[in-house]
Amino acid sequence: MRKPVIAGNWKMYKTLSDSVETALALKPLVANANHCDVVIAPVFTALKTVCDRLEGSNIKVSAQDCSTEKEEGAHTGEVAAFMLRDVGASHVIVGHSERRQFYGDTDATVNRKTQAGLAAGLIVIMCVGETLEQREAGIAQNVVSGQIIGGLSGLTASDLDRIIVAYEPVWAIGTGRTATPEQAQEMHAFIRRVFAERHSSDAAQALRILYGGSVKPDNIAGLMAQGDIDGALVGGASLKADSFARIVNYRV
Ligand code: PEP
Repeated sequence: MRKPVIAGNWKMYKTLSDSVETALALKPLVANANHCDVVIAPVFTALKTVCDRLEGSNIKVSAQDCSTEKEEGAHTGEVAAFMLRDVGASHVIVGHSERRQFYGDTDATVNRKTQAGLAAGLIVIMCVGETLEQREAGIAQNVVSGQIIGGLSGLTASDLDRIIVAYEPVWAIGTGRTATPEQAQEMHAFIRRVFAERHSSDAAQALRILYGGSVKPDNIAGLMAQGDIDGALVGGASLKADSFARIVNYRV
């Protein structure tokens, strides 16, 4: 039985005080959510304080990215995965489409970030997803399988326990245009098949695959009713504690 994960990606929103305020407002609203793992991903500068203020709660804290470099060194502007772990983060998101589109992330760098996150003891949420052009050209599955194979290359069987895949069709992110539950289910089942072929059917059955792309309180239940959808990565609707809590507390 896969435990669902509902993760909120705050992107580059919120000052330190806004981040703490939202995190503290969320805490009582999701305190009874034992049916899923609850994760929030504030900006780097808020990570330590948010982790400290959430200590002892059921909310886990993720970074939104990490360096490809495992060790400290002369890498101006970078933050190493072990430094995220050091301030209390338990998860890191890698390969978000905004980073692939605008900041040069490739399957090779996503793979290095994944390896760095795992080496630091983090749970890695690796994002994959096709653009609208790729979907319309009929190559969505090729694109996604390439991202899965490239991003997870070289991982050992024990590493796979700490991998979560987030399928986020680029055309659905921040657009208000959600994939239908059936469209999402089809790709999730495909991802599980790719994972089974590449790794093992046990690892594929255990893999948690999140859907991301305009998830809201009113569409989460339909998505979660699908057999291969194990949670959600939520952007815009995670910025307010009450709307994120309504997503966390979905009922199928
Ligand atoms: C995201 O940023 O990962 C995301 C899915 O955003 P939104 O929910 O706003 O589409």
